[in-house]
Amino acid sequence: MNSSPFLSLRGVVKSFGNFTALDRIDLDIKEGEFFTIVGPSGSGKSTLIRLLVGMDDLTDGEIRLRDKRIDDTPANKRPTCMVFQSLALFPHMTVGQNIEFPLKLRKEAPDRRKARALELLDLLRLPQSYYDKRVSQCSGGEKQRVALARALAFDPEILFFDEPLSALDYRLRKTLEKELKDLHARTGKTFVYITHSLEEAMVMSDRIAIMKQGRIEQISVADEIYGAPVSRFVAEFMGEVNLFDVTVAADGAVSSDVLSSRSGVKLKPTGQGARGLLMVRPEYVGFADSADAFDFTLSGPLHGEYALGSRIQYEIETPTGMVTVEKLREDRRSVSEGETLTVGFNVENTHFIDEAP
Ligand code: ADP
Ligand code: MG
Repeated sequence: MNSSPFLSLRGVVKSFGNFTALDRIDLDIKEGEFFTIVGPSGSGKSTLIRLLVGMDDLTDGEIRLRDKRIDDTPANKRPTCMVFQSLALFPHMTVGQNIEFPLKLRKEAPDRRKARALELLDLLRLPQSYYDKRVSQCSGGEKQRVALARALAFDPEILFFDEPLSALDYRLRKTLEKELKDLHARTGKTFVYITHSLEEAMVMSDRIAIMKQGRIEQISVADEIYGAPVSRFVAEFMGEVNLFDVTVAADGAVSSDVLSSRSGVKLKPTGQGARGLLMVRPEYVGFADSADAFDFTLSGPLHGEYALGSRIQYEIETPTGMVTVEKLREDRRSVSEGETLTVGFNVENTHFIDEAP
């Protein structure tokens, strides 16, 4: 993977009337990277990708590809291609005709077109006999693969995906997530992928950007976004989380209305003391079987127990809200609702978010 800037956005703004859909976006995507943009519905993901492929104009800012401005380049002159949720295939045509469509536009000879289409069927692990099959006779997963093959037939430098799997059922989605990751590795192309599914983002991406209301909150690798989010928004968007309102003294000592800390337990000193959020993911919270089992402990009545398949969640009531504990099913506890439980966690599994509650 080349680390020099490949696709760069600087100060990108998109307004619709007096509504700002994208607010000064800066972003660098590397060549060959699988880059995913996640965010809630309405956060501006599709708007951003429409600017990148040239389906819409910027209000301000610039987009560069290999240091050359492309924001004034019309869509059909850009080396990019978009794969949508609705597949936009030609249903009355065959799989082969669909895949060859971009090659026909380029006036390639019929025998070369067919050879390339067969290659792409192989790449997408579809039987070559599908070449003559009608798209209308293909299943949802097969149509998605045909759409991918057609996108690759354009031979774009960058492939953009706008929630291509969101209309598919769970099993097929899981299969295609892995296939897309594999396809990325085999083609070496740059993939820019949009989803509102955190899990999808985590499975496939080299890096993830989290969007909120037209701005990018954080860009990093999945582990860091999960373990060291910069804000409450990112922490909560990336799955179940426990957040405690704490004050950290200049020497790192933690005080909280809910948590008791073992004496001597300290966060990294901030130098001046700060109010913020102490985060711990539910899988790092355990049942405290002895008084000094954990650096931080809290007690409260059990509010509920929820079986989530392979995992079990316990919710414990505290004066400031629920605390969630998660165990693997094999470590399930026998507890009853209302029973007072003491749970805890250790400082090395926490992350301090510098955001006033
Ligand atoms: P996402 O893809 O993250 O769900 P969008 O990029 O589609 O979000 O939309 C972001 C915001 O911009 C939304 O509030 C949406 O209503 C608004 N928006 C998008 N396109 C237009 C448009 N053509 N005219 C006016 N508002 C728009
Ligand atoms: Mg969208």
